[in-house]
Amino acid sequence: MRAEVVVVGGGITGVAVAYFLAERGFERVVVFERSYLGSGSTFKCAGGIRASFTSREHIVLMKRSIELWGELSRRLGIKYARSGYLWLASREEDLERLKRYSSIHNQFGVSTRFVEPGEVEEMAPALDTSRLVGALYDPLAGKASPFDAVHKLYLASREMGVEYRFEEVGKILVEGGAARGVASSGGITEAESVVVAAGVWSRQLLEPLGVSLPVEPEPHHAALTEEYGRLFDPLIIDLESGAYAVQTFHGHVLMGVEIPEQPSWEPGERLAFLSKVVRVWSKWLPWLPSANILRYWVGHYEVTPDHHPVLGPVGSIENLFVATGFSGHGFMMGPVVGEELASWVASGAPRTEEAAHLTLRRFEEGRLIKELAVIG
Ligand SMILES: Cc1cc2nc3c(=O)[nH]c(=O)nc-3n(C[C@H](O)[C@H](O)[C@H](O)COP(=O)(O)OP(=O)(O)OC[C@H]3O[C@@H](n4cnc5c(N)ncnc54)[C@H](O)[C@@H]3O)c2cc1C
Repeated sequence: MRAEVVVVGGGITGVAVAYFLAERGFERVVVFERSYLGSGSTFKCAGGIRASFTSREHIVLMKRSIELWGELSRRLGIKYARSGYLWLASREEDLERLKRYSSIHNQFGVSTRFVEPGEVEEMAPALDTSRLVGALYDPLAGKASPFDAVHKLYLASREMGVEYRFEEVGKILVEGGAARGVASSGGITEAESVVVAAGVWSRQLLEPLGVSLPVEPEPHHAALTEEYGRLFDPLIIDLESGAYAVQTFHGHVLMGVEIPEQPSWEPGERLAFLSKVVRVWSKWLPWLPSANILRYWVGHYEVTPDHHPVLGPVGSIENLFVATGFSGHGFMMGPVVGEELASWVASGAPRTEEAAHLTLRRFEEGRLIKELAVIG
């Protein structure tokens, strides 16, 4: 059977693209995943979702993604909560940064606002506010469960006819300047279009075709504590260190912070991460040193030079599309990227002008986009 569309990669991007293609009426969509769904970066992420960025592209696309998260949660029952983001400043210079961010958010209709310590304590009862110089709250932001989101998009897309094959794609087949399918461990699958949504590994798939994807695998670490009752509703960010913490739907605290790292395909565990993340968060959560850490892992951000994704057609080869390079924000962008890619495949154009700014061509033409708020 000749597929209409082959999607390579079964992370949030691949399953969301497949779901939106099926919703548009595509009847023969095949997703290839070499391991289990979510096994790349998706099941290693914190599940944070926000539109409080500083570039027009990020803000416009994420406002739409948040609408879609709401719809998907109602339709498919995905665990999603609009529980906010709270940006914490303990130094005057961080407060100044937050003021700059907030004026950009407000200009684009994202209503972030400064909140007093009393309101912070209401939304985050476990937080020590004695060192608080200022806090910016984003009520539109929230979180979703990566496991639940992938699982429910998988079930819903399968019900609409999407086929999932657990095989590794070794090669994208190109003939006469156009994609014509893939060669996987199970053989050859012909297709009218191919969408590469293979996370950091997308670069390796496209390289043999002469397509150079400026995406680096950047290791990022996260730790998970034991379960607690309600500690804080919003995802919290410490401006000084860039660290984030979120209380998961089960009650665990999931925390991350940057430590010096080189790009790497095989990231290794680092004890330095654990001591740093506990030290940083003890400033706001003084009880943290006595918590039990249940799990610790390393995953990848797929980082581009301007911290924006690479979306849409791969100019030099017809019917070949890519969606990666999310630079730490690929989970939250899943729904809007699914919708935009489905539009590109179906009609040759994305839904929005902002998505059209994010093609691979911007690197060739030196049209990089600026983003100031690259955190969780
Ligand atoms: C610690 C951490 C915290 C994060 N927190 C957040 C957050 O709060 N919010 C947010 O939005 N983002 C966050 N991210 C980023 C987010 O996880 C990623 O941007 C996102 O999951 C990318 O999804 P993806 O589907 O594009 O890629 P992936 O999830 O990596 O999926 C790619 C899939 O392709 C498969 N694959 C690769 N090559 C092949 C092949 N040749 N054949 C078949 N299959 C193949 C892989 O097995 C993999 O399953 C975080 C990341 C980390 C590491």
